[in-house]
Amino acid sequence: MLYLEFEKQTFKKTVAENIKNLYRRTLKEATPQQIFQAVSYAVKDVIIDNWMKTQAHIEQEDSKIVYYLSMEFLTGRALGNDLIALTVYDEVKEAMDELGVDLNVIEDQEPDPALGNGGLGRLAACFLDSLATLGYPAYGCGIRYRYGMFKQRIQNGCQQEVPDNWLREGNPFELRRPEYAKEVKFGGYVRVQYNEKTKRNDFIQEGYQSVRAIPYDMPVVGYNNGMVNTLRIWDAEAVSDFQLDSFDKGDYHKAVEQENLARTIVEVLYPNDNHLAGKELRLKQQYFFISASLQTAIEKYKKQHSDIGDLHKKVVFQMNDTHPAVAVPELMRILIDEEGLTWDEAWKVTTHACAYTNHTIMSEALEKWPVDLFSRLLPRVYQMIEEINRRFVEHIRFMYPGDESKVASMAILYDGQVRMANLAIVGSFSVNGVAHIHTEILEKRELRNFYEMMPEKFNNKTNGITQRRFLMHANPLLADWVTKYVGEDWITNLPVIERLMPFADNEKVQREFLNIKYLNKVRLAKYIKEHNHIDVDPHSIFDVQVKRLHEYKRQFMNILRVMYLYNLLKENPDMEFYPRTFIFGGKASAGYERAKEVINLINNVGEVINNDPDIKGRIKVVFIEDYRVSNAELIFAAADISEQISTASKEASGTGNMKFMINGAVTLGTMDGANVEIVEEAGRENVEIFGFLAQEIIDYEKNGGYNPLDYYNRDPELKKVLDQLINGEYSCGDKDRFRDIHDSLLVQRGQEPADMYFILGDFKSYITASQKMESRYRDRRKWAKTAIINIAKSGKFSSDRTIFQYVEEIWHLDKILL
Ligand SMILES: *Cc1c(COP(=O)(O)O)cnc(C)c1O
Repeated sequence: MLYLEFEKQTFKKTVAENIKNLYRRTLKEATPQQIFQAVSYAVKDVIIDNWMKTQAHIEQEDSKIVYYLSMEFLTGRALGNDLIALTVYDEVKEAMDELGVDLNVIEDQEPDPALGNGGLGRLAACFLDSLATLGYPAYGCGIRYRYGMFKQRIQNGCQQEVPDNWLREGNPFELRRPEYAKEVKFGGYVRVQYNEKTKRNDFIQEGYQSVRAIPYDMPVVGYNNGMVNTLRIWDAEAVSDFQLDSFDKGDYHKAVEQENLARTIVEVLYPNDNHLAGKELRLKQQYFFISASLQTAIEKYKKQHSDIGDLHKKVVFQMNDTHPAVAVPELMRILIDEEGLTWDEAWKVTTHACAYTNHTIMSEALEKWPVDLFSRLLPRVYQMIEEINRRFVEHIRFMYPGDESKVASMAILYDGQVRMANLAIVGSFSVNGVAHIHTEILEKRELRNFYEMMPEKFNNKTNGITQRRFLMHANPLLADWVTKYVGEDWITNLPVIERLMPFADNEKVQREFLNIKYLNKVRLAKYIKEHNHIDVDPHSIFDVQVKRLHEYKRQFMNILRVMYLYNLLKENPDMEFYPRTFIFGGKASAGYERAKEVINLINNVGEVINNDPDIKGRIKVVFIEDYRVSNAELIFAAADISEQISTASKEASGTGNMKFMINGAVTLGTMDGANVEIVEEAGRENVEIFGFLAQEIIDYEKNGGYNPLDYYNRDPELKKVLDQLINGEYSCGDKDRFRDIHDSLLVQRGQEPADMYFILGDFKSYITASQKMESRYRDRRKWAKTAIINIAKSGKFSSDRTIFQYVEEIWHLDKILL
């Protein structure tokens, strides 16, 4: 069915009209940014009708809605994606060509809405895409940060953070909805007052500061189905403009504070990935968007329903990690204080409406708030938590009489802290991990006591990615090639991509694949030339690790490998060596010194190696600045080798691994996260696996039985590489530049063991696996076959599959048929 009568001439006219109306210019005079704005408004015009129709239909059908609550939505650019979803990308490209404008240049004018750190935020964006495409009613609920993730600049080899003013030119895709504004209250105290009418105590928050939450809606366009869902992100405003009369009342201070709160609360996204910052403002952000989102959901429900006790039949709240876990007590507060339910009624609704996704087992990422901070900031919500905790602890003691260790591990309030994961688990009907191995570790270890007490809540939902952005938009050449052999069904039904299997051995098909990969490498080489001023050879192996910088992801181990290979080549200039381009990209959290030192090391190693004539350009090292969704798309398409080398057990799932796979890169990785399932799907022979297993790492950690010095002393090549970190080799003689990261591998620091992430223990097997990849690559036909099999077996990793499982097993939504 055609959901869009696209008329090229009309579209061209609209673009020209928009330029005139917006800028009083002709197309010829307009800047690329102005053309981008004009085109985007023309596209939004097209979307709006479907948006209204979808929302009217959802109301009419009284459909159950999922509210996906997430502090982060890493959507990437909207224009190209929306054109694809509307199935008019080629037509618009043609129209623009006829106007003498290159659509790619126009797309490059759009800033990436960087409202996320990495995988967690990108997952939320993929989920919204799949929900709309599969036809399920959904709201994404988040925060409209005025400054998203910082822009990364590399200066003298080091990361510099630059503010990301993504809204400077205005965001043509958003719609401000002041009519749906909500008030959110902070601080003050709770006054109790007996209510004669209801025969209950009323709990009244007084002396608080409040903020007005203003929603901005962004359309989420389903692929070729007329469906448009909503991403609702909240901005903050002062409740009333600065009031002179509060000065007279002596409230001057409070009025100023309230102004400041509104200004600061949505100012900036915290740039921590898998790490708790523990800042008060962060908790304010969490409550701000949760309270506003829940109020919206309840208001919407009450428009059509009178029994609030049935809320959970029409509404489900999915909490993306514990960041939104304050939804549990906030929902209790609203149901009891504002809707008049009893505790038991409210608890039933809450624990049938809330569901929680766990994203990590890393202890430094576990959210905990000091009780005094929490109770001061959210006094009434804190009372709810106290009562939830009181009842739950009573229940633990009833189930396990005399076993206080159970209370110690599962209580929500403990040791002066509010433990958000425990709150989320207790308040939810579903707790899911994000890959099989991750869920298993949760059940058997991290959350074992909870699993034993409430096994029915636990389930797995292996992550996925949307093939529409990461194949169709990112890699049009490969997408057309896939369509040529399997038809276009893969766009909305990725498993049919397995129809490529019969072609994996076909020489002509293999040549086509290799040629497409080559052209994508040329495209990336051009980007690298423009941005890094480095010449890379598109015939070399593109060996790529792009992801957030983190010790557990082990970019450090990767660059040590490069140093090792460089030493080898220097000592044996005539050895067989297939030219390799090592590509890195990723941001380090601004305060994460070790991660920033690794970025510095990568860049300095690159500086030395790229300029050493002795090795005749056979190794190049490139650090791509400001890794984000838009350049990620170029990178995945051009990759030969996908580096997925986290310490086993530490990467909950990973999704970068899936994006590489669908683009025909071969995984070099550990048995961690979704890598395990990639091995299952592609077959052991079509990936290169190395390193300790998760169980081995866990056993080491339990027994404190790992000594990195064993490896350092036994392996002279490894020793040489480590010594080069502190002999000034890669730091113009500065022996201290890399001492910290050097010591992190060899010296114990207080509680923290040396080489916590088992880099030395895995190093040798990493080198071996890496060399095997090189010999695989030499056999071009065999390599093509392996890559094609990886593409063919990537069907499982569509977020369409993930969302279908959430819908069937957790949310129980009905498909919309427009
Ligand atoms: C997919 C993606 C990530 C997550 O990558 P991992 O390798 O799974 O950590 C992070 N950032 C961006 C921009 C992405 O597209």
